[in-house]
Amino acid sequence: MEQKTITKYNILEKYFGYKSFRKGQETLIDAILSGQDVLGIMPTGAGKSICYQVPALMLPGITVVISPLISLMKDQVSALNQAGIHAAYINSSLTENQIAKAMQYAAEGRYKIIYVAPERLETQEFVNFAEHANISMVTVDEAHCISQWGQDFRPSYLKIVQFIKILPKRPIISAFTATATEVVKEDIQCVLGLCNPEVLATGFNRENLYFAVEMPKKKDAYILDYVTEHSSESGIIYCSTRKNVDAVCDKLSKEGVAVTKYHAGLSNGERQQNQEDFIYDRCPVMVATNAFGMGIDKSNVRYVIHYNMPQSMENYYQEAGRAGRDGEPSECILLYSAQDVMINRFLLENKEQNTEFTPEERKAIRERDEERLSMMTRYCTTKNCLREYILRYFGEQGEKECGNCSNCQKEFEELDVTKEARKIIECVLELRQRYGINVIAGTLRGDNRAKLREYHVADYSSFGALKELTEPAIKEIMEQMMAEQLLFRTNDKYALVKVTRLGREWMEGESRILLKKAKEDNFAKASLNSSQTSAKTKQRKSDILNSRGLELFDLLRELRTTIAREENIPPYLVFSDKTLVDMCVKLPFTKEEILSVSGVGENKSKKYGERFTNQILTFTNGEKEKLYFGEVEEVLNSTEHSRTGKENGKTKNAKQDFSLTAQQAIEFPYEEKYLVTEIAEQLNRLRDPNTTKKITGAEIFRFIMSEELASQTFYGRMPKKEVSEKGVLAGLFLGPRISKTGTEYQDIYYNEQAQSMIVEHYTRDKNS
Ligand code: ADP
Ligand code: ZN
Repeated sequence: MEQKTITKYNILEKYFGYKSFRKGQETLIDAILSGQDVLGIMPTGAGKSICYQVPALMLPGITVVISPLISLMKDQVSALNQAGIHAAYINSSLTENQIAKAMQYAAEGRYKIIYVAPERLETQEFVNFAEHANISMVTVDEAHCISQWGQDFRPSYLKIVQFIKILPKRPIISAFTATATEVVKEDIQCVLGLCNPEVLATGFNRENLYFAVEMPKKKDAYILDYVTEHSSESGIIYCSTRKNVDAVCDKLSKEGVAVTKYHAGLSNGERQQNQEDFIYDRCPVMVATNAFGMGIDKSNVRYVIHYNMPQSMENYYQEAGRAGRDGEPSECILLYSAQDVMINRFLLENKEQNTEFTPEERKAIRERDEERLSMMTRYCTTKNCLREYILRYFGEQGEKECGNCSNCQKEFEELDVTKEARKIIECVLELRQRYGINVIAGTLRGDNRAKLREYHVADYSSFGALKELTEPAIKEIMEQMMAEQLLFRTNDKYALVKVTRLGREWMEGESRILLKKAKEDNFAKASLNSSQTSAKTKQRKSDILNSRGLELFDLLRELRTTIAREENIPPYLVFSDKTLVDMCVKLPFTKEEILSVSGVGENKSKKYGERFTNQILTFTNGEKEKLYFGEVEEVLNSTEHSRTGKENGKTKNAKQDFSLTAQQAIEFPYEEKYLVTEIAEQLNRLRDPNTTKKITGAEIFRFIMSEELASQTFYGRMPKKEVSEKGVLAGLFLGPRISKTGTEYQDIYYNEQAQSMIVEHYTRDKNS
């Protein structure tokens, strides 16, 4: 029989259901297939797994994947099995019997991919197996754990090197990580002994994440509002202490939120149970300490809120990065308060130090920790683009303004605080640079605190020099002066504020100092600039669906939940949200057609295809409706692009886009006022359903916006509609409406004049 060569594209499509590789994936796969070692540095969600799973299926022998995270292993293996790939994991969560069985199967060559925990590598049974097996590749996941300079150093990772040495033939080594600074990168290559590797870093930027720092007066109220507003979505709330976790979780649960929690104070059983409730979407909201999340592969986490500031940018980016692994727009919000800095200082001071290190090393580590904390604090107080800050921290160059973070979306004004800054420096010098920020601010305010009395600060001439300012305001100016290097804080636990040389020179000179302050009324501003800001706010994939599309999407989601329950797997292992959206766009009716949907491979098509196509057939009555906005090309480009150029969603009985004949138009039942959806409804009654497609309210509203009669802004993600001056003249006006949940909001109404303008727009052969 003729042997067809199987390409990496075949594998990608057959098993994973994707049509093309993403940035970087192909380079790494090609290198591996040509026998080269690789190091892939790609952010979470970029698709590292495919980089070793695809070659693993093409190499002659077995691929051993070393991963520190037990839960992740289980997940990855389930996902592979779902895709029809033979894989197994071996770690301490299995019984001795199960391990023996897995080892036996492995020795018989039944698995192409085996996941193991690093500790497992030196056990006798694994060594026996490895000495006789044909291991083509060793993949090191979370490779930064091998570096002592990383923040997740795991001594057990050093065992990998010995393990590779005992193998009869040196395998290809592929290493992957999401976080690696220059030193860590060097370390990985050096310690693992990578041989002339292909090193590829795709960049840290996660375009689909929106970053925000907020300083709410009441964090609890903020969280409750946010969670209620996003009630259909899954999210994680991180707190720095167990006590906070308990409190926030209680509060949300009292308000009826399906919430669960995770911290080291819970029993193993409870932790396991709660984690599963979260992963299986039984409790879509998780409140947790940073003990939670390592190895959580839940792809549809829509938001990560930090109730407290973490200790470093590394921690923050890793935790926040658990949002939006599926590439859909998601939000990362940090709730900052000055107290967080103090809590973190305290935690650092009481951190247990690894006894393997010498005193000098420990001192160096402590200093690095301090530095990390201060960089984290600066992230919370910067007025510049947050994304740019993050990227710069990780050694990359970002754009000056990303347009998709809270600072880029805020309007700032600049206050001249030169006079105040001078008084601050005078005060610091007068107090002989022996105090921290609290004493200085208190002195300038002229406070009568016990501590201040003890220091006799009332005797100084600076006492009360800025009594008209609040304490936070003084501190804010001081932070700005530190950012501009006029002041600095000593790097010890006293954190004394001192004046730099630059600061002294500045006192002699004429230059001014400006403080960027958020304008109070951001909301109004954001709406005024609607065209600008809304263009920048990222749409999520499901936003491309019109209301009928969303209806179908919800039905498919329900079906997915049902299947997940039956099979006892997390819903996202059936299909991702993105795949469901693509189904709503392409409307596959057969098992063959469903293969053209992104994320549907052969195995899943066989297993689930029919149930989904049946649902779609019932919903659409076998008619290929258009359930999305925009042009097909546009939509397909925005989901992952089709390489094979298969016919997608080809319409059986091609209908014309919506329009009316002049005769039909005359029959429009004009009223004093209509909402846009009502106009759509009336228009649809007039059309000939056999030849003409439906029109939706959203489509009409897009026409209205293109005429600049109205605009729509999203504040967070709450839409706010506004009528322009031109719109008022055309007969549009705002009026109250009541939502399904009973809240009142403003929507746009159209008077008769406006109605006739719309009817005319959709009327063909107007002159005849
Ligand atoms: P990482 O390990 O880098 O965090 P994953 O390997 O978990 O990322 O991949 C993230 C998501 O992207 C998964 O849902 C995966 O199926 C999807 N994905 C990966 N590669 C592709 C591709 N070429 N086309 C479409 N989706 C992809
Ligand atoms: Zn920005």
